[in-house]
Amino acid sequence: MDKPEKKKELPFGPTHIQRYSYECSSCGYHDDIEDIVVDAYFFSQGCKTGEYPKFTSPKCHNTMKYVGS
Ligand SMILES: [Zn+2]
Repeated sequence: MDKPEKKKELPFGPTHIQRYSYECSSCGYHDDIEDIVVDAYFFSQGCKTGEYPKFTSPKCHNTMKYVGS
């Protein structure tokens, strides 16, 4: 049996995670959310290209919005 030695190296390594800054406009709660989470919410919320998914503030349960990466 042949074992294919194809190991895909990630270009930036496994520790490279892009984070998106989100902030709650009501209480000012700030969170940096990982790209995989943002991606998952992007699809579950049916966002279009260029839109950012919305998250809920764990402090006041208002909507957190994307403020930059
Ligand atoms: Zn809040």
